[in-house]
Amino acid sequence: MNSITGAPEPTLLIIADISGYTRYMTANAKTLAHSQTLIIELVESIIHQVEAPLEVAKLEGDAIFLFCRQPPEAARWREIRTDISRKLLEFFHCFREKLAQLERSRTCTCHACTHLEKLRLKVIVHSGAVLFHRVLQFNELAGTDVIIVHRLLKNSVKAAQYLLLTEAARQELEFPNTITFKSGSETYKDLGRIQTAVHDFNCAAEPMLATVKPAYATRYRELLRLNLQLWFAPFASRKKFQHLPTDSRRPAQVAFAALTALLTPIFVPVAVVLTIFHALKWAK
Ligand SMILES: [Zn+2]
Repeated sequence: MNSITGAPEPTLLIIADISGYTRYMTANAKTLAHSQTLIIELVESIIHQVEAPLEVAKLEGDAIFLFCRQPPEAARWREIRTDISRKLLEFFHCFREKLAQLERSRTCTCHACTHLEKLRLKVIVHSGAVLFHRVLQFNELAGTDVIIVHRLLKNSVKAAQYLLLTEAARQELEFPNTITFKSGSETYKDLGRIQTAVHDFNCAAEPMLATVKPAYATRYRELLRLNLQLWFAPFASRKKFQHLPTDSRRPAQVAFAALTALLTPIFVPVAVVLTIFHALKWAK
């Protein structure tokens, strides 16, 4: 059942997008499968942070498309916008924590697993008028501003990890003074020039966070869970990954999945035992 619900509504549009793996790192079937699993782990850690009034519109493999309907009452919006700004900064914090956790749980030596530090988060925010189109229980968003926020994923920003606001979004949100923005602009053939403000998280200067050492049982559970996720990665459903370059061919992926299926009866009991020792070493 489809229905279009009324006139365009003022809405804040957000895309959190993970990139960083190169063709070299995802060249074979195993590293491709592992890179997808690791990106999904990071995407899910951000989704767990999403709460009302923010809503997820769509998952796009390595990106999450979020929105927040702006209430007509100015006072109500002033309360909400502080929460949203804080939440956007939390996305970066939680991304770095999850990366650190994955790094510490790592037992695989493939290119995807050993280059976790290459992964970066960028968040694009725009504010505009959106038409909501209801498809079953899901919201489909439409309008020029939805196109703009997606188009801004391809931009001229040189920073690796950053928060990019359009001028319209900057007027709607409020950040602490410690978050400084550099003005810029992006030009697209069909959309013209869009003024932007970018905060660079300068991750080269900020090493991955050291997470608090969890209890042994938690470490064991987390390690085993990740190992099994990576092992069964060849069977995971294929999502649309915008930034996952690959030379891997379909027959190689099928062969890798077949080999995995064959070795599973041996791998699983061995992993259950070996994780006992890995969990001891973890978080030295
Ligand atoms: Zn791996």
